[in-house]
Amino acid sequence: MVTIDLSGRNALVMGVANHRSLSWAIARCLHQAGARLCLTYAGERLKSTLEDLAVETPGALVLECDVTRDATIDAVAERLGREWGSLEILVHGIAFARKEDLEGAFVATPREGFQLALDVSAYSLLNVTNRVLPLLAKRGGAIVTLSYLAAERAVPAYNVMGSAKAVLEQSVRQLAYELGPKSVRVNAISAGPVSTLAARGIHGFTDMLKKHAERSALKRNITKEEVGKAGLFLLSDLASGITGEVIYVDAGYRMMGW
Ligand code: NAP
Repeated sequence: MVTIDLSGRNALVMGVANHRSLSWAIARCLHQAGARLCLTYAGERLKSTLEDLAVETPGALVLECDVTRDATIDAVAERLGREWGSLEILVHGIAFARKEDLEGAFVATPREGFQLALDVSAYSLLNVTNRVLPLLAKRGGAIVTLSYLAAERAVPAYNVMGSAKAVLEQSVRQLAYELGPKSVRVNAISAGPVSTLAARGIHGFTDMLKKHAERSALKRNITKEEVGKAGLFLLSDLASGITGEVIYVDAGYRMMGW
């Protein structure tokens, strides 16, 4: 019989804003499979929300980490080193672009908006990985990040976030190559649209949900729980031979020819 047992594994989950977050769906699955969790919040504003959520995952550490501030990443790495000694799982569910850079013409994206979106949404994957690598390399591990179809297709209103996702997906492949000898696997889930805080910042998102449901093979939108289950699979030994891949959890939208 095949079971997923993550007891004895330590998981750092970044990008939980609230109960709708895709990272939270993954965190719940990891918890149910027995993993020990650390959840991070980006600013003081979200601390209590995350502490309230963490009641559902008893024993989880809740720490601050803003990926634009290296010192906060190092503080998380230091704390996990002290408390856990090793890290086997990293979930990177972080993205940000300024509202104005998702609304205007892509061609007119200012340098600072482009840099900020790429920094938070793509560079953070390698920067965080690098800073926790001594812990990840101890016993080997698995990393999952969250991407979107705009990495490879032109999607109205995605603007600079599409550029960030393209860089993110290439970073997954490059990291997978580089970390393979350390037995660290790196994969991405490219999720269909799900109503979350970040997604609501995309102009026309409700229309996007409608079109997705109409055009996908399964004739519906995906759920965050489906992202959670795919994350659990990729982060478990069931996926031990998979690295450097982008797995589509999109109800069969991307493969359609229309
Ligand atoms: P979400 O709940 O709003 O999660 C986004 C997270 O990114 C939030 O926790 C946010 O924290 C965090 N973040 C932003 N700036 C940060 C920073 N400087 N440091 C640390 N964390 C920061 O939305 P979500 O939809 O679940 O997004 C998770 C990932 O899934 C993103 O990469 C997104 O692009 C991807 N994705 C989403 C969809 C979708 O339709 N929802 C589809 C495909 C891919 P704060 O709230 O504190 O800023």
